[in-house]
Amino acid sequence: MNNTVRVRFAPSPTGFFHIGSARTALFNWLYARHTGGTFVLRVEDTDKERNTEEALRVLYEGMRWLGLDWDEGPEAGGDYGPYFQSQREDIYKSYLEKLRASGRAYDKEGAVFFKISGEAQVIQDAVRGEVSRTEEKDFVIFRSNGTPVFHFVNVVDDIEMKITHVIRGEDHLSNTSKHVELFKAFGAPLPTFAHIPLILKSQGSGKMSKRDEGALIEDYASRHFLPEAVRNYLCLLGWSPKDDREILSIEEIIKLFDLSGINKNNARFDERKLSFINADYVRKLPLETLAWLTRPMLTQAGVLEEGCDEDYFQSVLAISQEKVKDLESMPDFLKYFFKEDYSQDEKAHKKIFKKPEAKTRLEEIFGLFKSQEVFTAEALEPAVEALATEHETGTGAYIQPVRFAISGQGMGPSFYPLLEVLGKDRVIGRIESFLAAS
Ligand code: GLU
Repeated sequence: MNNTVRVRFAPSPTGFFHIGSARTALFNWLYARHTGGTFVLRVEDTDKERNTEEALRVLYEGMRWLGLDWDEGPEAGGDYGPYFQSQREDIYKSYLEKLRASGRAYDKEGAVFFKISGEAQVIQDAVRGEVSRTEEKDFVIFRSNGTPVFHFVNVVDDIEMKITHVIRGEDHLSNTSKHVELFKAFGAPLPTFAHIPLILKSQGSGKMSKRDEGALIEDYASRHFLPEAVRNYLCLLGWSPKDDREILSIEEIIKLFDLSGINKNNARFDERKLSFINADYVRKLPLETLAWLTRPMLTQAGVLEEGCDEDYFQSVLAISQEKVKDLESMPDFLKYFFKEDYSQDEKAHKKIFKKPEAKTRLEEIFGLFKSQEVFTAEALEPAVEALATEHETGTGAYIQPVRFAISGQGMGPSFYPLLEVLGKDRVIGRIESFLAAS
C-alpha cells in the first residue's frame, strides 16, 4: 500500500465520453485503488466554447456508469480545488510570476514565451522505458489574448495538486519534454509518467475516433450493455493479467493491476470480444437482477403487459438466461412467451421442414401432447422418448419441428423446460394452428 499515490484524470469535456478517455480514467482509477491512493478528477476546461453543462453531464454520467468514482474533484470536493481550470486563473498568474522572476518567461508579440533549457529531457516512462527528447524552440505559455496554454496549466495543476503519477494516452508522449522543462523550471519534483498505448479501430491502422462504431461510452449505456462488462473489456485494452483470462471481477483486477502490466503495443478495439464478455456477464446475473433490468425493456416494447403473472415471467427468464446474447435483444428474443404475433425465422423454417417427415412428426406428437396429463419437463421427456422409439426415430426428429411450431425459432432454451413453461394450452394451440396453416 502506498497511500501517497495521487493520480488524476484530466479530461477536456467535448460532449462525448470517448472510449480512449474512459480507458485513461479507468487505468488511473485502477492504479489509485490498487495502491490505496487518491483519484482526482480535474476538468481541463480552458476552451470555453466546448465546455457546456451538457458536456460535463456526459462526462460525469459516463464515469459513474462505469463505476469510476473520484475521491477529489467536482461534486466531491478536496483540499486542492477548485478542480476546474477555468477557476484557477490566479494560481496560473502566480506561477507565471515565478517564471518571470527566474528569467524563464518573456513577452514577445503580445504572447508570453517560456525559455527552454535546450537540454535533452530524459524520462523513465513506466510503460515505454527511457524516453529522451530535446525541445528546440521556446514555446508560448500565455496567448496574446491572455489565456494560458495547455502545457502550462497542465503542469502547474499537477504540481499544485501533488500528482505523483501521470497516466495518460501515448498521444501526449511528445508533449512530455515541454512538461519536464516546466517542472524543472518551477523546481518541482517530476511525477512518474506512464503513457498508455493507443486504441486502434477494429480495422486498419488508425486511432479510434469518435465517429467509429463503438467509440462512445454513452452508446453502450443506451444499448443496455452491462457497465461491469464494458469496464472489464476496457481493462484489457492495453493491460492483461498475464494469463489467458479475460473475464475477471473488478476486485481481482484491482489486486493485479500495476503499471508494469501495461503493454507497449497499441491495443485494437474488438467489438466481438466486448459482446462476448457482455454476454457472459448477462448470463451470470442473479435472476432477480436480470428480471429488474429486463422488465422495463419488455414493457416498453409492448411485449410484457401490465399485470403479467410474475411467476411466469421469472420462469421464462430462468430457462432463457443461459441462451441470452445481450439485453438489447431481449424483447425480440422473449416475445413468443408473451405474444402470439411473434416473428418466424424463415431460414430455420426452410431447414427444418424441407424434410418431408417433419410435418408427420408434428402430427404424431400433437396426439401425444393432447393426451399428456402431467405437462412437466420431467414427465414429457420420457414420453417423447417413448414416442420416438415407437416410430423408430430419434427425439431430434420431434424436437426441431415442435420448437419451430411453438416459438418460430430454430434455437432457444432447453426443449423440455420450454414446453413446461409455455404450458400445455399454448403448446397445443400453437401446434394446431401451425398444422392448419401448413
Ligand atoms: N486535457 C488533456 C487531455 O484530455 C489532459 C492530458 C493529460 O492527462 O496530461 O488530453
